[in-house]
Amino acid sequence: MKQKGLNRMKTTVRASILGTATENLRQTAVRLKLPDGLFRKLVDPQERVEMTVNPILSNGKMIHVRTFLVRHNDAIGPSKGGIRMTGQVTLDDVTGLAMEMTWKCSLIGVPFGGGKAGIQCDPATLNEADKETIIRSFTRGARRHIGPEIYIPAPDMGTNQLDMGHIRDCISYSEGISITKGCFVTGKPVIVGGIVGRTEATGKGVVYSIKAAYDRQVKRLDGARVAVQGMGNVGGIAALEIARLGARIVAAEDISGAIANPAGLDVKALLSHLKKAGSMKGFKGGKPLPVERFFETDCDILIPAAAGSQITAENAGKIRATLIAEGANAPTTPEGDEILNRRGVFVVPDILCNAGGVFVSYLEYTQETQREQMTLQEVDRRLEERMNERFTEVFDRSRAKRIPMRFAAMDIAVRKVLEATQARGLLP
Ligand code: NAD
Repeated sequence: MKQKGLNRMKTTVRASILGTATENLRQTAVRLKLPDGLFRKLVDPQERVEMTVNPILSNGKMIHVRTFLVRHNDAIGPSKGGIRMTGQVTLDDVTGLAMEMTWKCSLIGVPFGGGKAGIQCDPATLNEADKETIIRSFTRGARRHIGPEIYIPAPDMGTNQLDMGHIRDCISYSEGISITKGCFVTGKPVIVGGIVGRTEATGKGVVYSIKAAYDRQVKRLDGARVAVQGMGNVGGIAALEIARLGARIVAAEDISGAIANPAGLDVKALLSHLKKAGSMKGFKGGKPLPVERFFETDCDILIPAAAGSQITAENAGKIRATLIAEGANAPTTPEGDEILNRRGVFVVPDILCNAGGVFVSYLEYTQETQREQMTLQEVDRRLEERMNERFTEVFDRSRAKRIPMRFAAMDIAVRKVLEATQARGLLP
């Protein structure tokens, strides 16, 4: 099949993470005039594994958990990507997220390929000990797929620093030693080989890219009105950081509901309420907002930092923000994206906007490999520098070619993966 075929072929499962990732790659393949063989090589993952684990929890009962691990492409380096732990995550989601990681690592310039893992279980239903049991069972089951030269996990939705510590412990003690031989997992607690600033890196990176966009538009963040979907690691940190720079968080949403305050929410107070109450309910600093109206919030900047496929053909036309910074992976469907592009909304695409996390994971990887210790100042300086550098590269291409930022980012990222593929030569 030649280019013509690619032009005709539209993906069918589009309102899904994998559908979005596939369609974004297909459009890139058309722009870059990729032959069909190369498109197929890039669209299908190198390895896609499904494993079941059956740990016994603290109530004495055995549970059945489906888990997934996908290594999408390792032309540039070993596969890198987080572990998603939710009740709904599927093998297809993990495949789409692994594909996104390939482009993200390539674009941000770290020597990794794309990977991702999934554990199909809702952590909100588990106590700490049971979550640790499941994480350890997954690690044992996936052990042969995890390693500094194979796949290096990190946190994603539903997993955190503590879980990464358990993974490292599980692997090191399976060898009977206190440390691992090299970096097997990033996003760990600092005391067991983690790096300072990793937890904040993705959220801070989101804000650096917003700042870079505002600088180009000669706008000031001071007083800007921001709506944030997702109050977890990425959304919570991004909200705190942007508020610190003088912006007002006028609306926030999480899985339990949404809340608004045109005068600005007290983000610290909201995060501590969420920690204690586990829900938006009862927070006094704002008024409840129906979740279906969240994207219509009157604001300047929208940060989707939760699940995928949130901005769709149904709501993209109602968004009032003029800048969208994609903290989440694949938050915008291709149809939603088309509408945003037509309306001239400036979108900082996920593979650029939330790449701060994987960049600092790379610093953690090198730190552990070389038994070094980096300071927070050094980590932050390198993160800001890299985010600005890659933002400029994408922005300049987007202006020069008169294409949206997402297209420019994808073109650069896919080209680099192709360059690595060609530099390696064709395997038999
Ligand atoms: P998290 O588990 O810490 O937080 C997720 C947040 O989203 C929670 O507040 C949750 O209540 C909310 N949420 C979940 N589903 C929702 C829905 N349907 N509607 C509204 N809110 C919902 O997860 P995180 O690590 O902050 O990840 C958030 C997003 O950012 C994901 O798409 C993830 O893939 C992406 N991401 C994370 C990192 C990282 O370093 N953690 C890096 C890059 C990208």
